[in-house]
Amino acid sequence: MTFSIHGLAVARGVAIGRAVLVASSRLDVAHYFIAADQVEAEIARLRVARNAVVEELQRLQKDLPKDAPQELGALLDVHLMLLQDDELTTGVKRWIRERLYNAEWALTSQFEVLARQFDEMEDAYLRERKADLEQVVERVLRHMMGAASPVAPREPRQRRLGELLLDDTHDVPLVLVAHDLSPADMLQFKKSVFAGFVTDVGGRTSHTAIVARSMDIPAVVGTRTASQLVRQDDWIIVDGEAGIVIVDPSPIILAEYGFKQRQGELERERLSRLRNTPAVTRDGQRVELLANIEMPDDARTALKVGAVGVGLFRSEFLFMGRHGVLPDEEEQYQAYRAAVEGMQGLPVTIRTVDVGADKPLDELRHDDAHLNPALGLRAIRWSLAEPAMFLTQLRAILRAAAHGPVNLLIPMLAHLGEIRQMQALLAQARTQLAQAGTPHGLVRVGAMIEVPAAALMVDSFARAFDFLSIGTNDLIQYTLAIDRADETVAHLYDPLHPAVLRLVAATLDAGARHGKPVSLCGEMAGDPALTRLLLGLGLRSFSMHPAQILAVKQEVLRADAARLRDWALQVVAAEEPAALLASGH
Ligand code: PEP
Ligand code: MG
Repeated sequence: MTFSIHGLAVARGVAIGRAVLVASSRLDVAHYFIAADQVEAEIARLRVARNAVVEELQRLQKDLPKDAPQELGALLDVHLMLLQDDELTTGVKRWIRERLYNAEWALTSQFEVLARQFDEMEDAYLRERKADLEQVVERVLRHMMGAASPVAPREPRQRRLGELLLDDTHDVPLVLVAHDLSPADMLQFKKSVFAGFVTDVGGRTSHTAIVARSMDIPAVVGTRTASQLVRQDDWIIVDGEAGIVIVDPSPIILAEYGFKQRQGELERERLSRLRNTPAVTRDGQRVELLANIEMPDDARTALKVGAVGVGLFRSEFLFMGRHGVLPDEEEQYQAYRAAVEGMQGLPVTIRTVDVGADKPLDELRHDDAHLNPALGLRAIRWSLAEPAMFLTQLRAILRAAAHGPVNLLIPMLAHLGEIRQMQALLAQARTQLAQAGTPHGLVRVGAMIEVPAAALMVDSFARAFDFLSIGTNDLIQYTLAIDRADETVAHLYDPLHPAVLRLVAATLDAGARHGKPVSLCGEMAGDPALTRLLLGLGLRSFSMHPAQILAVKQEVLRADAARLRDWALQVVAAEEPAALLASGH
């Protein structure tokens, strides 16, 4: 039966494929395809692990002290029974044979199928056996992770819809459905097999959504219930533009979305012709279109779409998901240098580490529900609290600046005292490098304007820095008191709120007054519906996901910046800017 689930649109495009349900706790399980001739080896690997666990449990059972509670013995019986259950073993083998999933993935897929069956049981005792199954699966996974896989991952093939409908077995595109994904999980999936993502939680500018967008694959977040309503292996359509997930689509709907998919491809092809066209408005205003990147490798994608530099390198992605081991100076230097060299002489703006809030380092995960991490030890606050870590990063960035133009960007500043401390540490990092005779370069230093306090005292910021960069994702979050990662208040997260627009406009004016360049690197920069408004307010430097650059360039080419000025000021002054924006200019 076809039904749809509504969420928040994250990344454009349509993905059609089978659902892969992954529990958040299982996200570190490897997901890759194996070759057909590796099936038996993969099944054998699984068998070895399972037998090892059976032996382990039998040993435990044998060694059980005489006075051990009876329930313990019964529990081990249940675990052994579950482990040898036909539905589990046959199911897992089917995922390996028919879909060519690697063994770990096959095991967790079958676990999700059985877990759902347990959830639906009327009997409370039986329902609770799901936890036992989970423990058993966990043990088998641990055994498999300890033993290296002899099987090499294989690249998935890209398939067209027609081909898919003919072949219902393997190599079908897969769409990941999870309750939640952390930004670090998303990075792992950057190299993965999935053609789309759906999550229950998350807002449109949560960092998970941001990474999905940077991967340019269709995604819908904030669906609240998708991971409960979608079953393992269901056919689903992800409409990343409308924020809709269609489950078990009828042939008519499939055909409609197949058409939409092709239209999207044609549109991209058309836009790709603008790659080498300079971004200049009709009245001759030059506009800088820069890329936001998460990893040094992304520089390639940035160049491919004609970005004239990197306006935001979110360096924190080098720090996340490393089980507490932070990258040392050399590793960071190599990463920054790779980005700088990757951009072939174009400027790279490296933002110092911005962890905290919805980007926890694993060991910093805030479990205290009463604390609000978005208001906590985040970004520059953490850097100043860990001066040794910060100095290491600053040295690495200064060293990378010997290889090409680098701008240093500081996130989340609100106090002049923080600016002074940061400047002192930067001077110290330079001295350390000079004393050690280590080659390094000059950097221009900029501040992110993303806390309302910074926007309200922007003159002081403009005086203290070489440039400013407006982080509207956080500026909206902190101005409107809306957690950007919380889907329950996503409807109130409004880039066009008059208070937000006034802070953006004031920052742009201050930049012009002080002769300091102002860039905008929040998600607003990549929304073509806002390009004319931002141009009208005087913005000439936009930084966004590479995937958005050409669509924004198209808007720039069509705009007459001088004529947009008065209209833009009216929009900002309006009580309901959205209505005025919609009426057009
Ligand atoms: C922002 O806040 O707008 C921004 C660009 O930084 P991040 O999204 O990484 O917080
Ligand atoms: Mg921010």
